[in-house]
Amino acid sequence: MAPTTLLDDLRVALGDNAVLTDPDLLRMHQRDEADLCAAGTPLVVTRPRTTEQVVAVVRAAARHGVPVVPQGARTGLAGAANAVDGAVVLSTVAMDEIREIDPVSRIAVVQPGVVNAALAGAVAKQGLWYPPDPGSWESSTIGGNVATNAGGMCCVKYGVTTEYVLGLEVVLASGEVLRTGRRTAKGVAGYDLTRLFVGSEGTLGVITEVTVALRPAPADSLTLVAVFPSTAAAGAAVAAIAARGLTPSLLELLDQTHLRAIEAYQPMGLRTDAQALLLAAADTGTRAADDLAGLAEVCEAAGADEVYAATDAVEAAALLQARRLAHPAMEKFAADAYPGGNGGLVIDDVAVPRGSLAALLDGVARIAAECEVPIGVVGHAGDGNMHPNIVVDRADPASVERGRRAFDEIMRLGLDLGGTCTGEHGVGLLKRDWLAREIGPVGVRVHQAIKSALDPAGLLNPGKVLRPVHRALTRAPARRVSR
Ligand SMILES: Cc1cc2nc3c(=O)[nH]c(=O)nc-3n(C[C@H](O)[C@H](O)[C@H](O)COP(=O)(O)OP(=O)(O)OC[C@H]3O[C@@H](n4cnc5c(N)ncnc54)[C@H](O)[C@@H]3O)c2cc1C
Repeated sequence: MAPTTLLDDLRVALGDNAVLTDPDLLRMHQRDEADLCAAGTPLVVTRPRTTEQVVAVVRAAARHGVPVVPQGARTGLAGAANAVDGAVVLSTVAMDEIREIDPVSRIAVVQPGVVNAALAGAVAKQGLWYPPDPGSWESSTIGGNVATNAGGMCCVKYGVTTEYVLGLEVVLASGEVLRTGRRTAKGVAGYDLTRLFVGSEGTLGVITEVTVALRPAPADSLTLVAVFPSTAAAGAAVAAIAARGLTPSLLELLDQTHLRAIEAYQPMGLRTDAQALLLAAADTGTRAADDLAGLAEVCEAAGADEVYAATDAVEAAALLQARRLAHPAMEKFAADAYPGGNGGLVIDDVAVPRGSLAALLDGVARIAAECEVPIGVVGHAGDGNMHPNIVVDRADPASVERGRRAFDEIMRLGLDLGGTCTGEHGVGLLKRDWLAREIGPVGVRVHQAIKSALDPAGLLNPGKVLRPVHRALTRAPARRVSR
């Protein structure tokens, strides 16, 4: 009997409708939202619905020695979901069941393809709250959020995704199903394997079920805007807010480039003459007005030109919406700067200790001038996590080169200031060398040992997080990651 092909095996396991080879669809699944990252063309896109089907995909791919690239909504910003040539893309979009919401234990159990906003909406109906709120919350999946350990705007007070992941079901490269963690409020049994998989970017296993912790719905919040004559002054205000012991539920920074880009994208009456704007909120119930007054006082002392509170919830929501428009607005800014589809955006994601935020912001301005590239800065200032957005002309190699140089200089500055190369977007393809520099040779070896233990053939999302290990270590067949 002739040996079956991988496609035959997948069709038997999943049915024809979940095994897709249409060239347009394959192209669509080549990459995530990160610019200037390598991406290959997959052999096939699979859309399993159940854990058993994920097991079948992983086992079939392993039998044929073919890599598997897990993908959620492909909103990632580090190239972590980019396909490699000839891979099986394992898309989780059809695994979108919310299996359980338990208001007593305050947990929810979901499949990985559930969209963040769908989970937030479903638990809100029961008076509960799932806090992690990446800017992409209306499209990104819980599986993708867990695999990147996504942050968001309320994380300054409530923490990032990992704080809310109690347990996971993971299909390992061997096809075995591992359950990690717990459903209980407390639990310390064994190594914390749950945290190992959070942020592992699809390189250690495919997450097929997530148990998340929920909180009671927060109190209504009051919102404050502070306008600054420089980004560094806004950065200093953030450090002063922390030093004063205030705990805003949101503390975001937009620089002038972003204010202008957002205003051009969707006019909202933003102060486009300001060098920087801080958006802060307090959700402390009866204390919120006092806390807002404290935030205003600190901003004024740090040199704010103007500080005002949103008059009502509608104005507060509009300000938050302005912040959420930062990404599409900067994409349009880049497109307008370099017409003909040549405007590119290299989105950085550096985090420094809050006390070093002003130095980071000053440094980014210096780097923009030295490298002669426009760089807009936006981000979760309260976490010290900034997104310098570098605008390049893709059609001009010199512009791309200057953009890459600026990117590297920002990474170097972030590490020199005691920070990390990624606050929330992950390593993917974009930051592999900077991760190696950040964690050092021992850290790299430990990462490699974990990867080899869980995925000895190196077939799960190869080339992401770490550069491919020497083949003698992995026993993997030679495979080219297209550039
Ligand atoms: C407009 C915009 C705003 C954004 N704002 C934020 C923000 O505020 N904070 C933030 O942290 N990020 C933000 N991001 C980045 C992105 O949305 C997050 O990284 C998100 O968590 C990715 O989810 P996804 O479903 O799109 O995953 P994908 O991009 O499809 O995948 C991301 C990674 O997860 C892996 N993966 C996906 N599903 C699984 C699974 N089931 N098992 C194993 N691995 C899996 C993939 O292999 C890949 O490595 C933003 C992106 C955009 C476009």
